[in-house]
Amino acid sequence: MRKLATIRKIKEVRPIDGADKIELALIDGWQVVIRKGEFKGGDKVVYLEVDSFLPIKPQYEFLRKSSYKVMADGTEGFRLRTVKLRGQISQGLLLPLSEISADTPIATDVSDVLGIRKYEAPIPACISGEVTGKIPGQIRVTDQERIQNLIEYFQTYSEESFEASEKLDGTSMTIYHADGELGVCGHHWVYAESEKQTLWKIARKFNIPDRLKGRNLALQGECIGEGIQKNHYKLTGQDWFIFDIWDIDSGRYLTPAERVETLKELNTGVPEHLKIRAVPIIEESIKIFEQCKDLSSLLEYASGVSGLEKSVRREGVVFKSCNIVIDSGIVSFKAISNIFLLDEKE
Ligand code: AMP
Ligand code: MN
Repeated sequence: MRKLATIRKIKEVRPIDGADKIELALIDGWQVVIRKGEFKGGDKVVYLEVDSFLPIKPQYEFLRKSSYKVMADGTEGFRLRTVKLRGQISQGLLLPLSEISADTPIATDVSDVLGIRKYEAPIPACISGEVTGKIPGQIRVTDQERIQNLIEYFQTYSEESFEASEKLDGTSMTIYHADGELGVCGHHWVYAESEKQTLWKIARKFNIPDRLKGRNLALQGECIGEGIQKNHYKLTGQDWFIFDIWDIDSGRYLTPAERVETLKELNTGVPEHLKIRAVPIIEESIKIFEQCKDLSSLLEYASGVSGLEKSVRREGVVFKSCNIVIDSGIVSFKAISNIFLLDEKE
């Protein structure tokens, strides 16, 4: 689970050229515009990441104008987004320790204490339907941590090769087959079979239930198209692009090469228009931390055009190690394009 609110130490506070009321605070890989004199380098603070969804409380009312949102389940609150102030990107919010006991150690996750959740875009209407349960626990839910929270990777994986795949901006869709049981799922939920629901329409169109027979796999991809997010890609109808395959028997993600091989097998003898497609792959194998030695060059790499539609900026890039590098399998992370984030109006 992503830690949205954590105790951190401010690395440095810098002046902003031409601004006398605001300053820039640097915290790990993040930068936040603050009021001048509010905090100084070395201060222990609560850092709230972008996509934090704050409860309605008097002390957060200053966010109402810019950030008020209602989530799919009806909860009201304030969503933190990336903004630009006086030419400076500002991501997240710093709060004084006043609401938390001052001796809480650095890195402690205080999201629950503060009632902060992750903002989730409403489930698109075409995907809502009768839910039969949660995705079974043995299958990993699709989530990626941001590189800003994994700054140590620049060292740890300095020589590691990664696959760079385009991060599509849609909604997560998983189809699994586990010992005869089939599930068609969104990000968290399994949906009852239905004529109209989009995920099931896609599952039937590609005949996935039959094609997964005899295997214990979960195919995970992004469902994009009409009625989903902003359909940047200008698709008619909806489509599904695979970015991961979870191997249920071994309890790990396939490596990028294994995934490509498995997709090839699943697509053998299948007519072209019914082949399961993968998200656009930017680079099959790249020593990304050799090529990009710091965060800003990596974030620059993340920006670019979409492999699906050249007139559209991509949301970012998801990196997956080409090899199994930890006990639980591959490592992966996302780098979101700041240009994309700043374009995002909602
Ligand atoms: P976020 O959308 O910021 O919550 O980032 C994580 C989500 O990105 C995952 O849950 C996936 O649904 C989605 N995603 C889109 N493209 C990819 C990709 N190429 N690799 C992995 N996840 C992806
Ligand atoms: Mn997303």
